[in-house]
Amino acid sequence: MRSVSVLGATGSIGASTLDLIRREPGKWRIVALTANGNAAGLARLAIEFRAEIAVVADENSLPELREALAGSGIVAAGGAAALVEAATRPADITVAAIVGCAGLAPTMAAIEQGRSVALANKEALVAAGEVMTAAVARSGATLLPTDSEHNAIFQCLADNSYDHVRSITLTASGGPFRDWTMEQLHAATPAQAIKHPNWDMGAKISVDSATMFNKGLELIEAHHLFPVGLDRLKIIVHPQSVIHSMVEYRDGSTLAQLGPSDMRVPIASCLAWPERMDTPLAPLDLAAIGELTFRAPDEERFPATRLCRLAAEAGGAAPAVLNAANEVAVAAFLAGKLPFTRIAVVVEQVLARYAPPPPVSLADVMAVDTAARAEARSVLELATK
Ligand code: NAD
Ligand code: MG
Repeated sequence: MRSVSVLGATGSIGASTLDLIRREPGKWRIVALTANGNAAGLARLAIEFRAEIAVVADENSLPELREALAGSGIVAAGGAAALVEAATRPADITVAAIVGCAGLAPTMAAIEQGRSVALANKEALVAAGEVMTAAVARSGATLLPTDSEHNAIFQCLADNSYDHVRSITLTASGGPFRDWTMEQLHAATPAQAIKHPNWDMGAKISVDSATMFNKGLELIEAHHLFPVGLDRLKIIVHPQSVIHSMVEYRDGSTLAQLGPSDMRVPIASCLAWPERMDTPLAPLDLAAIGELTFRAPDEERFPATRLCRLAAEAGGAAPAVLNAANEVAVAAFLAGKLPFTRIAVVVEQVLARYAPPPPVSLADVMAVDTAARAEARSVLELATK
């Protein structure tokens, strides 16, 4: 029996994780399940999986959670400190599946315990960068990349030395707007942006996928997970999302990982690592898919990848500032308050206005995140005046 905690249990990655666990009765013991404010959904999951503790980050939802779990024997807790406490409880593997920098503190708490952490929460690594990789090195934690591209790279690297790697290529679907003109992009609505052609995901990452910030954040994520140097990290648009990323070696061999576009594949790879486990997915039918196509990214229509590369090159606090500005701009877009094409403009302006010194601790990263959000909100106010 293996024990597991799922931070962000009520989200898309959380649901995929628990779907796999549900299919292996008797093999898993659930320690902590967490959510933001969805107390009813969290309580249902906690009862189904007989969790030790259920935590809502939003303290206002705690009374509802308490009531829903009354008599179950499951501990109900709420607030930021409870979230971190839950993440420190012993578990063989912690799935970090909160969206945004909100997941940073609990993810770091799990890392500090020296655990295996399946990392889906890319914003946490983008914001914290070396602060997180240093904590991994110090605590002896195992970071298992859950993002499909990084999981693909992790599998293709196997035990090869980085010295043998010529390049790493992240594939991108190109998102729902990959063939749209600039005029169409100006008028893109939240409903159109969250309707992804290949993947079924949470709202924030769906918008990131439409702007290509997702791929840019993934470039920064890859830079920290696989330190081969930014000049050896590439992005290619591959609309079918069958190849999830590739590693090219110096002898001319390129290894790629292929699979259905379903997050249960990379999640299963993390949950079972270094073994393998079953997933309920149909085998990849390449004859039915027919063609795999590729094209270079268009940074005119989608400037996000360029901005992310610049932030990665600058290093220090820049990726945390970029991430915070993007989170605020995406929320404004989803609320109907910012045109789609202004998301990247807001991010670029915040990066130009706010350049704090490099963070050296978790507290520093959180302070940069908070200040960058305030900066982004003031840029947004100017933009909408
Ligand atoms: P989602 O919006 O579906 O779920 C997010 C989860 O985080 C929910 O459980 C929610 O309750 C919780 N949460 C939200 N705000 C919070 C806060 N302030 N404090 C504490 N908890 C909070 O998102 P998702 O699509 O499951 O994505 C989760 C993470 O995984 C993101 O970082 C995303 O980039 C990454 N990821 C997702 C996919 C995917 O296919 N969905 C693929 C690769 C990577
Ligand atoms: Mg991805």
